[in-house]
Amino acid sequence: MSNFIPVNTPSVGKPELAYLRECIETGWISSEGAFVAQFEAAWASYCGRQYGVAVSSGTSALEAAVAALDLEPGDEVILPTFTIISCVLAILKAGATPVLVDADPVTWCMDIDQVEARLTPATRAIMAVHIYGHPVEMTRLCNLCERTGVTLIEDAAEAHGAEVNMNRAATPAAWRRCGSFGAMSAFSFYANKIVTTGEGGMVLTDDAGLRDRLRAHRDLYFGRPDRFRHEGIGANFRMTNLQAAVGLAQVERIDALVARKREIGARYTQALRDLPGLALPAEQPWAKNVYWMYGVVLDEATDFDARRFAAELKAEGIGSRPFFMGMHAQPVLRERGLFRDEAYPVAERLTRQGLYLPSGIALTDAELSRVCDTIQRIFQGWR
Ligand SMILES: *Cc1c(COP(=O)(O)O)cnc(C)c1O
Repeated sequence: MSNFIPVNTPSVGKPELAYLRECIETGWISSEGAFVAQFEAAWASYCGRQYGVAVSSGTSALEAAVAALDLEPGDEVILPTFTIISCVLAILKAGATPVLVDADPVTWCMDIDQVEARLTPATRAIMAVHIYGHPVEMTRLCNLCERTGVTLIEDAAEAHGAEVNMNRAATPAAWRRCGSFGAMSAFSFYANKIVTTGEGGMVLTDDAGLRDRLRAHRDLYFGRPDRFRHEGIGANFRMTNLQAAVGLAQVERIDALVARKREIGARYTQALRDLPGLALPAEQPWAKNVYWMYGVVLDEATDFDARRFAAELKAEGIGSRPFFMGMHAQPVLRERGLFRDEAYPVAERLTRQGLYLPSGIALTDAELSRVCDTIQRIFQGWR
């Protein structure tokens, strides 16, 4: 279908091409090129961090970050069940134990009451994942980590440019960017992320020791001075200069990218907020949501689920994507003895009833209107 509206369309163009051309013309295409360090510095600075370590994906960013914590068997890491599998994989590869919590029904991010309830003497870290552009309740989570000495890692792959007001009770507001919290934060620059390099990721930190470990891990722990006497078990997670060139051009127009995401979010909310039986993304008063993906959740009382909704949208030429399936519901993890007999009702409802609508930065206003009109029509047919 030629007028199909895909769930994501990235925005790349002349600025990216200019930097890419420079890579090709100079022959600097590997991770040795100068754009890598420039992209690291630009992204760290935007997020309010000292150091960036660019890697090959968001998944490898999480793996390198968790590996840098030196966890031991029996150590526990608390994370939301409602997230991507990369989060659990990083913990399992480090030999530690993932401990799940359910989603908050309003923000869809990890429920902080449950985080508190699942703390044990073995808890070493908490992995906070900002879901679909809405920040985790970081004021409470940061307090909890400070009080208990538990290390905080942020997965900010869906929250480029999102902010949290850390001074909720008083004025002036103290807005702080996602990606600036805790020991380390991980980003993805996959093609559907707000800043993209096609494939790519980064870990940010303020700790020079962690930075050095992340750099070593990314580059196979090559030894010094004996290059082929490796000093640890690392990986090849290097980002190429080509990817970093694209990333740098993206960061240079990050304000416009985030503004467009927020505009798309506001337009969807304006057009859909009166539909009965459809829950829309929240924006808590203490949060700035960047609407990475505009998710909607059908009320169970409508008798329709996300699968049927997606099929009807598809028949009208509109792409969508179902919400995450919780980690506790993953057969590949349960078969390994993880999360047996655990139930997370909010996440389960989100999986059944939730999907996200076309949200790419290159989505046009005309396409947006067509999506909204189509949803209105589908809902009328259901009544
Ligand atoms: C996209 C994403 C990742 C993984 O990033 P890749 O670059 O695809 O490996 C990790 N965490 C979250 C929350 C994501 O949305």
